[in-house]
Amino acid sequence: MILHKAKGIHLEGKKSMSKKFPIQEYMNPQFVYIHLLQQASTLKRVVEVGETVKIGQIVARREGFGEMPIHASISGKVTAVKKVWHSSGRMVEAIEIENDNLNQVDPSIVPDKNVANLSREELVAKMKESGLSGLGGAGFPTYVKYGSKTPIHTVIINAVECEPYLTCDYALLIKYPEKLLKGLSYLLRASNASKGVITYKKYNQEFKEVLTPFLKEFPNIVLFDVDDIYPAGWEKYLVEQVTKTTYKRLPGEVGVIVDNLATAITYCDVVENNIPLIARAITITGEGMKQPQNFFVPIGTKVSDLVKQAGGYVDGLDSSNTWYIAGGPMTGRAILVDDLIVNDTLGGVIVKPFPEPKEHPNCLGCGKCNDVCPVYLSPTEIENAFNQKDLVAIKKLNAEKCIVCGLCSYVCPSHIEITDYVVRAKELLRKGA
Ligand code: SF4
Ligand code: SF4
Repeated sequence: MILHKAKGIHLEGKKSMSKKFPIQEYMNPQFVYIHLLQQASTLKRVVEVGETVKIGQIVARREGFGEMPIHASISGKVTAVKKVWHSSGRMVEAIEIENDNLNQVDPSIVPDKNVANLSREELVAKMKESGLSGLGGAGFPTYVKYGSKTPIHTVIINAVECEPYLTCDYALLIKYPEKLLKGLSYLLRASNASKGVITYKKYNQEFKEVLTPFLKEFPNIVLFDVDDIYPAGWEKYLVEQVTKTTYKRLPGEVGVIVDNLATAITYCDVVENNIPLIARAITITGEGMKQPQNFFVPIGTKVSDLVKQAGGYVDGLDSSNTWYIAGGPMTGRAILVDDLIVNDTLGGVIVKPFPEPKEHPNCLGCGKCNDVCPVYLSPTEIENAFNQKDLVAIKKLNAEKCIVCGLCSYVCPSHIEITDYVVRAKELLRKGA
């Protein structure tokens, strides 16, 4: 059993802040910034400053492993190449495009009249040409998983969205249930899998209501609900729940591919209309926001535009006395500026007022972090080993098995960011320094 202790824990979701708001489209920001970085790969820019570009035109290429094109998300003029904030917490070079508000579309974006006859190879090629990557936060090139020779019997859609605060996946599914089913049916064809499973949290019974009327057209797709625990959206947990098997490194070892629901919905547009990955859903929420909201925006949109669009900060707050979490509160990254840019992996930004000073800055030795760790680690021992730069101890303590779920920090009564120490210990081990 993977989630052995307490079988995961129930978290205060805070999803009600934004959950009731349907996806709001904000498709014409004045500027977008296409990062020249994807995962750890630097992208090669193929447009020059001064050039005009259309929506869907190739502006950069990822080379080497996971090679694929990256596309303009609005039409307009390339006005600069400059460093902007990335959800990794770094400044990263990006292509700045100023919107001409003409919404000129690249001629490659046309409906495909031959969808029913597309072969597996053609479906995988479309993934590659569209620059589709995992929108659940991993950013892994989708075609790499589907182009593998490993036999696949099941594709699992992760609609669990188990991070607190975030609701954009929920809003996306409520708006596009049929697109999700079609997208999944194309993913099944692209992998030769015989079964599709859509996983979601039990309390989201609305998913069942919106999907059921369409399900009869998709006899090889079933729904599967999971308990309201964290980290129920963890890939390994989902595979075990659905297939009763587990794996060491990748779900493909047991004949499974897992994809996020936003990836499947985007893939529907890729297959049917040749629309590349140029937009995504994102939740802008948190105690610092006047009106938390779910948006659908071009990749490259400034988060500060979305904060304004959602009504701004609560009274008394502004960008000087707030901080931000890029992603969910459990696995996201703290950032001090709102100049963050939406990229393929950014599904949410949580806006928080600066916190009061902490009461108990020291470890109390309570052991709660050990008790909740779903992979049996001892975070405090790893922290000690990290502080002493003791690689042998870090290895012995299996720090590399940490799935960065954030639970140890979450339960710590002293508010120690103990996850950070484990992550840094992993990094130390990786570098062997
Ligand atoms: S972040 Fe890592 S060490 Fe902490 S509870 Fe999760 S898996 Fe365990
Ligand atoms: S939960 Fe926090 S206070 Fe308790 S042992 Fe772990 S680090 Fe120390």
